[in-house]
Amino acid sequence: MIREFSRRQLLWPGAAVAAGLVLGVGLNADGAEKPKNKKGKGKKGKKASGKAQARRTVVVWSEGTAPKKLYPNDINGAIAEGLKELEGWDVVVANLSDPDQGLPEALLNRADVLIWWGHQKHGDVKNELVDKIVKRVKEDGMGFISLHSSHFAKPNKKLMGTACSWKAYVGDSTTLKVTVKSPDHPIAKGVKEFTVEHTERYSDPYAVPTPQAVVFEGVATLKDGKVDPSQQGLTWEIGKGRFFYFQPGHETNPIFFDPNIRRIMINAVQWAAPRQG
Ligand code: ZN
Repeated sequence: MIREFSRRQLLWPGAAVAAGLVLGVGLNADGAEKPKNKKGKGKKGKKASGKAQARRTVVVWSEGTAPKKLYPNDINGAIAEGLKELEGWDVVVANLSDPDQGLPEALLNRADVLIWWGHQKHGDVKNELVDKIVKRVKEDGMGFISLHSSHFAKPNKKLMGTACSWKAYVGDSTTLKVTVKSPDHPIAKGVKEFTVEHTERYSDPYAVPTPQAVVFEGVATLKDGKVDPSQQGLTWEIGKGRFFYFQPGHETNPIFFDPNIRRIMINAVQWAAPRQG
């Protein structure tokens, strides 16, 4: 198996580039890292430190069940598009239907951050893969970002070690107002209160360990005018890794195209990445 993986290690980035899956520009078609881009414009006064920062990798995983009308490239495609402005990062999309369920060892081992969106197919994810993800987070410090219905995803549950259930899941809301609870937190940088159309609310309490920070809260407005406040963005440190859970993201609400949500995703990736140096 290991030999097979090592062959794939050589092959997959090129294959992914050919398939348009790598959105960053850090890889040549053969998968070799490109030398750092030297444009030389507007960079004066900013001396090269002599040691280029290594490029980083965020993998955006989803299971391919979002409605194509709203998410033509599934949810991972929409999130990855929003992450394109991350400088120095390769953004890779991974799908449950891909070989090795989207996460061959070479890719998982290269990932600084893994973003996960799952809902209907949690049970299809192999326990062996879940164990590898958990190990990467706890022992190597890979960041993990879990979205919406991924609260019940196997890696989410295994990392939390609790039931990860919310009190209620109800598709009776019209909007969600997201408010910033921890304005000094890096994930809240540049984010102000905003409202998105959102039809499925999860109600507190959420059966997880006490979070390190509650970065975002929110209020769902129901069709009958009532409101339901709940936690929206929570952080933990699990072993060496950083973990962010974000409640919004139901598949019939295309919020991953919303600039506020995209800002939160960018911030979360940067926060969750292992420290360099
Ligand atoms: Zn949902």
